[in-house]
Amino acid sequence: MAPQTESPVPPKESNNNVHDHDEISHHKRESEHRVFVNRSLRLEKIKFFGFDMDYTLAAYKSPELEKLGFDLTVGRLVSQGYPEEIRTFEYDPIFPVRGLWFDYQFGNLLKVDGFGNILVGMHGLKFMKPSEIEELYPNKFVQLCASRIYVLNTLFNLPETHLIAQLVQYFDTHDQFKLLPDKTGVRGGDILISYKSMFKDVRNAVDWVHMDSESKMKPSILANIEKFVIKDERIVPLLRMLRTNNRKTFLLTNSDYTYTEGVMSYLIGKDWANYFDISIVDACKPKWFAEGTTFREVNVETGSFKLGIHAGPLRPGVIYSGGSCDAFRQMVKARGKDVLYIGDHIFGDVLRSKKTRGWRTFLIVPELDHELTVWTDRKPLFEQLAVLDNTLAEVYKNLDGTSVERPHIESVIQAIRQKSHEMDQEYGVLGSLFRAGSRTTFFASQVERYADLYASSCYNLVHYPSFYFFRAPMLLMPHESTVDHASIHKSARADQLRRQDSVGQQVRGWTKKNLQTENTFCHEEEEEDQNSDGKDDVDSAREKSSSDGEGDLISPGSTDVVVVPSEHIDQE
Ligand SMILES: [Mg+2]
Repeated sequence: MAPQTESPVPPKESNNNVHDHDEISHHKRESEHRVFVNRSLRLEKIKFFGFDMDYTLAAYKSPELEKLGFDLTVGRLVSQGYPEEIRTFEYDPIFPVRGLWFDYQFGNLLKVDGFGNILVGMHGLKFMKPSEIEELYPNKFVQLCASRIYVLNTLFNLPETHLIAQLVQYFDTHDQFKLLPDKTGVRGGDILISYKSMFKDVRNAVDWVHMDSESKMKPSILANIEKFVIKDERIVPLLRMLRTNNRKTFLLTNSDYTYTEGVMSYLIGKDWANYFDISIVDACKPKWFAEGTTFREVNVETGSFKLGIHAGPLRPGVIYSGGSCDAFRQMVKARGKDVLYIGDHIFGDVLRSKKTRGWRTFLIVPELDHELTVWTDRKPLFEQLAVLDNTLAEVYKNLDGTSVERPHIESVIQAIRQKSHEMDQEYGVLGSLFRAGSRTTFFASQVERYADLYASSCYNLVHYPSFYFFRAPMLLMPHESTVDHASIHKSARADQLRRQDSVGQQVRGWTKKNLQTENTFCHEEEEEDQNSDGKDDVDSAREKSSSDGEGDLISPGSTDVVVVPSEHIDQE
């Protein structure tokens, strides 16, 4: 498909140098076609485009897939001894939001920010009051540790998010069970059920549904594929566009060969493997980015593996199984920064590939469609909130340190809370994936840290030329976002600065006097060219590191506040 062309809009006359928002927005693609940028990336520098399959190339229909996973998990729990009554549970897509933390100890679903501060708490199907949160979590804070917290980070976690809430509610309110005094579970006669064991049972059931050969999940999807998988007509144009522009494409999926074959044949046709230079199934990400597994060639006639470990060059059209990033790098001579990997799994696809391999990353967030629909359709709500903020500012405007009488602001604060809650409800029971009121979530902070690019669909790439420069917008601090460029900053220091040469003029003079060349400031996109020895920073660091510990290596610019424990990996 030819890249979308956009006719430039003639600049409007302007009396100042402040950007006109309407003017800027004319240059942007439609929001449903956009790719959003956390870190600048020049597409022309990418030599390898890697794709995950589930929820990336193969977008699943929601809530059909979640309902299937939910019902099969409930069935599995009943077969494991849970009461028949839980078969009445139903999956409701408006309940869960991705990225919640489940606290094993007290059985609570927590929506937290990037540091572990609790924004919303839910026990069963009831919201926790601020006092209840404070009682269990001093300072409304919880530490992310694997023994206590499970992060429900993936799209495959949505059914269990609603299921665990319904289970907690069921046992808490069941007349044969009583809450334990330490609030860690329930007891009915001789039976003690801790929230921890309840959640472990759910997790095991979910894993069984997704991975066991006796589970009906994958056969049901393949047998009714139109019901569960979205066939996006942009798949062939995208893969063709990349390859006609001399880029290599590869498929790297955790799904097994039979399932991959079924889904990819539906999306592209029987010759799907010809659209990739390399196709790897059973990848076992994130292990693939570390020690990996045995690398084999798949016998496509039988679906089983060919004998021995594959050690020769990789051939297009052939399907491989397992392997590791190290072997891949050696076989295809790919440096970390040559690769853009596109996937939906924040830990398995994006965090590991970036942190340990320095790959450029593109996260698929299907919920963005819904998030942007609320963001645009509910404009009046956001405007009303801005008006309330202004009302509050107005109340304080003429008060200073000499003011004695306190203004009555309770009603405005109450109105702001009410409006924020109304906004959250537009997204779902547990609000937006990215925010709660004015604060951003743990999920949002992970996206910012590890995804160079993100979009609702990988196919949005067809709306950009293969040489596009994805430029990150300037990140503003509160003192920048709330002070207009057009306003005049008045202070004694500012007046002094205005009387003399500007600092910029002084610096240019200093540079001329002290430096041989003026091209010394490293812009992000220029930084990429600093290493010309054929190895990227992260690969070089790996080779120099004697310990070679995965956690020691952090790609430039990444700043961890909270990292998801390695146990939190879902197999697809
Ligand atoms: Mg996936």
